[in-house]
Amino acid sequence: MTGRTFSPFAADSAVIRMLESRGLTRRDMLAGAAALSLFLAAPPAARAVSPVASRARIVIVGAGAAGLSCAARLKREVVGAEITLIDPRKRHYYQPGFTLVAAGLQPADYVLSSTAEWVPDGVAWIEEAAAEIDPDGRKVVTASGRSVPYDFLIVAAGLTLDFDAVEGFERRLIGRDGVGAVYAGPEEAAATAAEMMRFAERGGVGVFGRPATEMKCAGAPLKYTMIVDDILRTNGTREQSEIKYFAHANALFSVPIVNEKLRMLFDRKGVEVHRSHVLKGIDPVKKLAFFTTPDGTAECDYDFINVIPPMRAPEPVRNSPLPWREGPWANDGWVEVDRHTMRHLRYPEVFAVGDVAGVPKGKTAASVKWQVPVAVDHLVADIAGRESLESYNGYTSCPLITRIGRAMLIEFDYDDNLVPSFPGVVAPLEELWISWLMKKVALKPTYFAMIRGQA
Ligand SMILES: Cc1cc2nc3c(=O)[nH]c(=O)nc-3n(C[C@H](O)[C@H](O)[C@H](O)COP(=O)(O)OP(=O)(O)OC[C@H]3O[C@@H](n4cnc5c(N)ncnc54)[C@H](O)[C@@H]3O)c2cc1C
Repeated sequence: MTGRTFSPFAADSAVIRMLESRGLTRRDMLAGAAALSLFLAAPPAARAVSPVASRARIVIVGAGAAGLSCAARLKREVVGAEITLIDPRKRHYYQPGFTLVAAGLQPADYVLSSTAEWVPDGVAWIEEAAAEIDPDGRKVVTASGRSVPYDFLIVAAGLTLDFDAVEGFERRLIGRDGVGAVYAGPEEAAATAAEMMRFAERGGVGVFGRPATEMKCAGAPLKYTMIVDDILRTNGTREQSEIKYFAHANALFSVPIVNEKLRMLFDRKGVEVHRSHVLKGIDPVKKLAFFTTPDGTAECDYDFINVIPPMRAPEPVRNSPLPWREGPWANDGWVEVDRHTMRHLRYPEVFAVGDVAGVPKGKTAASVKWQVPVAVDHLVADIAGRESLESYNGYTSCPLITRIGRAMLIEFDYDDNLVPSFPGVVAPLEELWISWLMKKVALKPTYFAMIRGQA
């Protein structure tokens, strides 16, 4: 080994020192990132809200990013309504921070808070799972059998990580024998960081990739690959290592221009790309990964692997009449909504927002921020007897970390257009420190403003 061991704090300090040498103070940097981030956080429709009065029963299944954000906005916009959140999870996860935890840049508790902290005053919270959703009977039945009737329903139940679909994988393996799983949860992301650091000290074969299903934050598998590549370089172990990325399809990313940029970046970094390979299972004893390919099963040995499982709508949603019945989103149970209004196509009093929605793009907190005001406005318009003209254009964004201290702020819509929030200031396909600072420093307050219904 020729280099020094990666230290997250040293890495951050190095970036800050470099920026200071260009005449920027720390305060300038933070203020710049925060200002840009607040701009990103501006409500999509700068509409003056006059609350409407109603005794409507509004039930929201899921109190994560989307459900809480809906509850906060509805509480403000509808006076007298009976708003009920249903969710068994007491811990709230700031999931965009999982990558930073898995990189060793933040501890697990960086992404943790309590759900209770974010439930708006005057909104009821049933701390149970929804077991059955019955849109014909306009009710939700909880795990204990309690029936909760509604006039309007918002499905915001996120998605399920189907780790059982990865043969040989067990959660208890995370953080041991070269197994990592960034998506699995806060503690698992921290265990992944510890195991990844052990790998990065010696080097070896690092295996990365993504599932073939729809997934949340499709940029995360790619950024984690580049983060590990960077840490190996800092440690001086990159030359004795191989980094392999297994793409489920022919492309690395669904937006063509971003895909081309990533292809060039991976090429430059010496990341070996295998296309049309989907992780089928692992042998944790022999440290082998198995992939389904068009030519049969392929195998690859690993010293470190980041396992990302297939993702599906939660079971009660899948078992309800709400999912698409045909097309690309039918199999995994994504909810059949209009892509511009988030309103169900067969049950007009039902909306779906966030990861569970069956729309072509999204599954990021950034898309939640733009979907929620639209869905809420359509719901409130129904109550007020007016027409809503709000429309969601598929906006999704991802600060794609390319190395510690650099990121590309990729923003795009349903039509794969790049829709930069700061044209001329933040170039989407450039690896910039400001985009890094936005991910590292400014996105968390923006996220919490969103779940308070203020962004
Ligand atoms: C590793 C990683 C990196 C990411 N990076 C980014 C990023 O850089 N930028 C970005 O914008 N986004 C990112 N995301 C994605 C973002 O966090 C999610 O898209 C966002 O949290 C989705 O919000 P949601 O409300 O739909 O789902 P969640 O926030 O997951 O909430 C779903 C809620 O539904 C509840 N629920 C599930 N089933 C039931 C049931 N049966 N009954 C009642 N409640 C139920 C759950 O308990 C949970 O509280 C990342 C995610 C991960 C995992």
